[in-house]
Amino acid sequence: MQQVASGQAPPQQAIRPAPDPVLQAAIEADFKPVSFEFADHDGRKNSQALCQEHKLHVCQKCAIDWQPLNALAAMFSGAPPDAILPPPNVVQPARTQAVNKTKEEGNVSDPVLFLPP
Ligand SMILES: [Zn+2]
Repeated sequence: MQQVASGQAPPQQAIRPAPDPVLQAAIEADFKPVSFEFADHDGRKNSQALCQEHKLHVCQKCAIDWQPLNALAAMFSGAPPDAILPPPNVVQPARTQAVNKTKEEGNVSDPVLFLPP
């Protein structure tokens, strides 16, 4: 427990406004649940996502492509255990690009995009 000296203001708590129910409903309207499971890869437990039904990284039947996310997971977990973490303010261009690419693809993902040409 944190002690507060007399005359000193208590630490500020972030005040989060209540979610707007209309906005919340709009956000949840296009939510599409995706079935998946984790699998071990390269000796790392639960380090890859697969479609749950067919156990594939890329599954056209389920219209899912987990490869970008799995590549990102491999990038994050690929460092040797004795590696020294870089300072938090150092930007790693390759990692930043991979994170942004995965995020943008997720934002626009549509099952039609994964159908064969
Ligand atoms: Zn599948």
